Amino acid sequence: MMTTAVTDETEQALIARTPTGLYIGGRWTDAADGSRLDVVDPSRGSVLTSVADARPEDGARALAAAHAAQASWGRTAPRARAEILRRTFELVTARVGDFALMMTLEMGKPLAEAYGEVAYGAEFLRWFAEEAPRVSGRYATVPDGLNRLMVTKRPVGPCLLITPWNFPLAMATRKIAPAIAAGCTMVLKPADLTPLTALLLTQILEQAGLPPGVLNVITTTDPGGVTGPLLRDGRLRKLSFTGSTPVGRRLIADSAGQVRRVSMELGGNAPFIVFEDADLDAAVEGALAAKLRNGGQACVAANRFLVHRSLVEDFGQALAERMGGYIVGRGTGPGSTLGPLINEAAVDKVTCLVKGAVAGGARVALGGERVAGPGCFFPPTVLTEVPAGSGILQEEIFGPVASIVPFNTEEEAVRLANATPFGLVCFAYTRDLGRGLRMAERLKTGMLGLNTGVVSNPAAPFGGVKQSGLGREGGAEGIGEYLETCYIGTCDPFRELA
Ligand code: NAD
Repeated sequence: MMTTAVTDETEQALIARTPTGLYIGGRWTDAADGSRLDVVDPSRGSVLTSVADARPEDGARALAAAHAAQASWGRTAPRARAEILRRTFELVTARVGDFALMMTLEMGKPLAEAYGEVAYGAEFLRWFAEEAPRVSGRYATVPDGLNRLMVTKRPVGPCLLITPWNFPLAMATRKIAPAIAAGCTMVLKPADLTPLTALLLTQILEQAGLPPGVLNVITTTDPGGVTGPLLRDGRLRKLSFTGSTPVGRRLIADSAGQVRRVSMELGGNAPFIVFEDADLDAAVEGALAAKLRNGGQACVAANRFLVHRSLVEDFGQALAERMGGYIVGRGTGPGSTLGPLINEAAVDKVTCLVKGAVAGGARVALGGERVAGPGCFFPPTVLTEVPAGSGILQEEIFGPVASIVPFNTEEEAVRLANATPFGLVCFAYTRDLGRGLRMAERLKTGMLGLNTGVVSNPAAPFGGVKQSGLGREGGAEGIGEYLETCYIGTCDPFRELA
């Protein structure tokens, strides 16, 4: 963790040594028509710098480069690919301060949290460095003994990777690392709100020896215009997307023409269930992590606190007290524990959801209105007695607002938890093991946090069911998203001896 104060000079020096072009075929270039897009500091509303704003012809060049590099890259030794990933892990870790500060500047999260994301994001590089040499197949005798079968794995081919702004490093490494490990080439399109972290990572991958054309990076304010032609192109064999469900749904439809492999990490609406037998202190502690990490701007953020009626008052009071202790401010500030939201539109959305809930009868126990002054700040907010049917219980809040809803029975808790088209993560607090295991079977979710408010881990398969997505990232499963299975059937090798 950086111990000295961050000065304007430190920030400017970091930005000055970060590339701002497109990265295509191993070269940094301008956009075809020289366009640039501004990157804004959400805590001040000021422009940090500008980066190239790609046009459709830049996207076409990026795919051509990825396609040209695929055949030789797919044949490199797994150990060679692993070592590039391992070197990248070491280099990112050595520059932890730069990556953390860059994320704080362009996305807003407090510096301490940004350090946490560097550790998390870098771990995908190390994890998949270890997975690359472990890809294997099998050789077997078929049941009637007459034939043999072999199963091998091979890279799926050129991939388009589209990432969101909320975890600028981790969402990129969670895709790039398994693609490298599997032997796929890529076009990465980071969010235009936070492109700098991805460009810094690209510079490091280049330094670590990633061959030209394997990773191509295009930053753009016209994502549909630039990626649309790529999705219609048969050379692109895989799309991995992390972002909102409406955009994901559209990209699945756009991929149908080429019957392309897709991985989708989409939105959530996580319930956080506190049963009557929960350890209340632990539940409040877990709630803080599940709600306020990243300022609530996480797909796994707890969106609905379902609390047993016998604990609802104590839980609400304790949560409001602890959330009230967070210090809102620019992420570089020494005491800041809650940064800004990403932009004005996000502040407007959160304000509107809170107002709607209050108009419907919810009570404000803490916060409730945006922080005056420059920057996109919204304070920690706790709403109690939130009426069923409130928009705030249906939509992803993506802000530091906790909505509390009481329930009476386990049956009711399960029904409320599952009453959403999303199914990314659920959290449940109970001391009863049987009930905990029942939750694992009854909640329609890709992930369950049982007596914990944090589930993300590079060693675990991250992903959702229902409209929260398709496929898994991380864990032993993550590399499979970038591999095709090939079966080879052959005759009994002993046949001629018979
Ligand atoms: P978003 O869908 O607006 O954007 C995500 C990415 O898609 C960005 O790079 C954006 O430029 C790009 N994009 C937008 N329109 C596009 C189009 N027509 N064609 C191609 N690309 C397009 O989402 P966001 O606001 O950046 O991120 C927040 C959302 O991401 C939330 O819904 C959150 O839950 C979700 N998310 C999910 C996970 C997960 O793992 N499930 C992780 C982080 C964020």
